[in-house]
This record gives sequence, structure tokens and C-alpha cells, in this order.
Amino acid sequence: MDPNNEHGVKRYLILRTADGSPLPTNPWILSETVKRIQETRSEHTYTNLQTVMKLLNNVAVVVEPHPTYNNVKFVFTCGSIASLIEDEIKTHLEEDNVTDVYRFTRKSDGKSVPTNSYVVTMQAVKIPEYIYIGMERIKTRVYYPRPIRCNTCLQFGHTKNNCKNGEICATCDEKTLGPCTLPAICTNCGGAHSAFDTNCPKYKQKAQLIKLKIDHNCSYREAKQMIDSSSGPKQTLASTMKQRINVAQIIISLKQTIQTLKSRSRD
Ligand SMILES: [Zn+2]
Ligand SMILES: [Zn+2]
Ligand SMILES: [Zn+2]
Repeated sequence: MDPNNEHGVKRYLILRTADGSPLPTNPWILSETVKRIQETRSEHTYTNLQTVMKLLNNVAVVVEPHPTYNNVKFVFTCGSIASLIEDEIKTHLEEDNVTDVYRFTRKSDGKSVPTNSYVVTMQAVKIPEYIYIGMERIKTRVYYPRPIRCNTCLQFGHTKNNCKNGEICATCDEKTLGPCTLPAICTNCGGAHSAFDTNCPKYKQKAQLIKLKIDHNCSYREAKQMIDSSSGPKQTLASTMKQRINVAQIIISLKQTIQTLKSRSRD
């Protein structure tokens, strides 16, 4: 028995309207507009909730697994699988709910050389402390992806495939390309360094946002609020947490709605 539902894997579902319109504003039916999250450890609830088609006021809704909260990424280092390709490793780890394995590379003399470090995607909501590679028990580490930077315009937040800007020089921030002897000006912060410099304050800020987002399991916006609150006026961590509590209340109201819905459908 598990009366408090403390065991089992916690998973997240989201609720949205079937036609993409905002959810009802009445908090007793459901609150406000955006997607709401339901978390559960019960297999039965997880399956049952996904059959909910309508709210009390007949608004057609869809309940589906959350696209990102049910997956985690982590890193491990192991030399004894160096001869295997990523797909083979993934196949061996499928029992552990691993869905993707990516091997890191490093640059050496302009060529990509594989390393012994791997990033793993696993169906779980918390990263495991260890991963077993055959008989070997290997400690895992948190994966912090590097900030996305465009190779064409060198700005953050998009890749060259989605770039709407022109190509610029990584050294001098001018549109003329090729070997450059001009003094360095970073296109992102205006500092006296190349746009590829990882000591760029803008780069560091982006990296810090990613770290906060992962460490606190929060959205990019919430992470930004935490940084703003530590430097700017009173948008504090406490108020960020308060917003999260409001979401928790909405979840409670959602649970009540579903309970009522269930008891009605039994009548
Ligand atoms: Zn770009
Ligand atoms: Zn230049
Ligand atoms: Zn810079």
C-alpha cells in the first residue's frame, strides 16, 4: 500500500483546451489561461487523467504528458565503452528508460575528436545518482548545455539556420569577413574581446541563466527574475516562489474539478 503516494515515478501531465483557446477564467472550473501542470506518481491516475475530455462547463480539453518535464539529461564519463557507437550504448541502456545518448567531442587540430563523456536523456523527473555500465557503477553529473549562439551573426538565442541577420566578423564586429587585424569588439557586449570569448559577460549571463533554470527546475523567465531580483528592484525570489504557489493552488482546483467530473460520470 502507498496511501500517501510517495513511491513510484512522479510524472507530469498538462491540460489545455482542444482547440488551443484559453482555458476558462473561472477558478472553480479552471484558472486563467496558460497550460496547467498535474503531477502524479500513480500509474492509475496518470492513465485516467488522460481520458478527461471535457471540463464541467463542457469546454473540450486535452490532457497529455508534459513534453519536457518527464525527461532529464545528465552527463557521465566512462572509458570502457569507447569502441561502441552511440546507438549501441543506447540499446544497452534502454532498460533504464534511456532514450538518447550523445557522445561529446572536442576540437584537436581543427578536427572533432570523440571524448569519453556522454550526455544521456532518460525518462525520469530526477537524475539518477549513478548509472550502471555493465558491472561498473558510474557517478552522474548535471548537464548544463552551453548557450546557443548563431555562427552567422554571433548573437545568442538562435542558430544559423534561423538567422535573419547578416554574417559579421567575430573579431571586429564589422560586416567585412576574412583575416582580421582590427581591434576586437564583441558584438554582444561591446567589450574588447572576440564574440567567441567565453569570458564575455553576456555569455556568462546566459550560462548562469541556464544553470539556474536547471538547478531550480524552473522556466527561463523565472530564472531571469531571480537574476533581476539580485541586482534590480524588488522582484524577489520570494515573489517568484509565490507565483509558483499560485500554480499549486490551481492544480488543487484542477484536482477538485477532476474529482467532481469523475463522480458525475459515475452517476
Ligand atoms: Zn544569427
Ligand atoms: Zn574583423
Ligand atoms: Zn562580449
